[in-house]
Amino acid sequence: MLTDYHLHLRPDEDGTTFERYFTEENVGRYLEAAATAGIEELGVSEHVYRFRQALDLWRHPHWVENAVDDLDAYCEFVRTTPLRLGVECDYVPGAEERTAAMLEARDFDYVVGSVHFIGEGDAAVDHEGFDVWEGGGDADEIWRRYFETLASCARSGLFDILAHPDLVKVWGRSRPLPERDPRTYYEPAVEAIAASGVAVEVSTAGLRKPVGELYPSRAFAEMCVEAGAVFALSSDAHLPEQVGYAYDRAVEFLAELGVEEICVFSERRRSLSPLGSPVG
Ligand SMILES: [Zn+2]
Ligand SMILES: [Zn+2]
Repeated sequence: MLTDYHLHLRPDEDGTTFERYFTEENVGRYLEAAATAGIEELGVSEHVYRFRQALDLWRHPHWVENAVDDLDAYCEFVRTTPLRLGVECDYVPGAEERTAAMLEARDFDYVVGSVHFIGEGDAAVDHEGFDVWEGGGDADEIWRRYFETLASCARSGLFDILAHPDLVKVWGRSRPLPERDPRTYYEPAVEAIAASGVAVEVSTAGLRKPVGELYPSRAFAEMCVEAGAVFALSSDAHLPEQVGYAYDRAVEFLAELGVEEICVFSERRRSLSPLGSPVG
């Protein structure tokens, strides 16, 4: 079994309207790409901030600007397709109850939980315009904060899959790196993963980013394996040609870790399936 659960039907750029991308034809392109790559389970997880309902959770300026679509229209559309229904939902500290209410009111197959923004302000680890590194951030402090927020995200129990678990490294060497061993920062997150049982995403998106690595790092993944965590496999595609992107690398990575099964989701119930091999 191969899955691609964390994917988007449109790029993140402005002007990518719902009407243009949430069509049978566009879904067909993703399904075709998945079939070619030997991916049996395909699901879509649109960014929550694209929906008006997200403004009940947070009114970040980037969200206010982008929250134009209707979450229920999205769910309804996806249900007309063979895709599994997911959503990529940011963990918003303090908004746990409102997040739970929003998610529980819809029949998602799975929810991908992510941390992009950290700390008190509007700053994100992966977002130009709201860059946490602007003005010279202290790398050890930023990494500590990122993984503490990721730990809270896992512990919240709101999510089935923990997205791109070490996203803080996205810029690679073009941003400062922490002086301390990163495992110091991974530790609280891995503890929370073990306590909550949330699935850890292995994402090939990092290979398309300046860092040029899978998420998570090998050290993080090894700590997860030791803690008894389970894994979910995704590309975080934003285009049909990114479906199953570099899956040979991800499958090899999992095999080297001794991981033989990956998570499959339906109606927010999880089962494990033997890890397959990519085609081509
Ligand atoms: Zn994300
Ligand atoms: Zn994503």
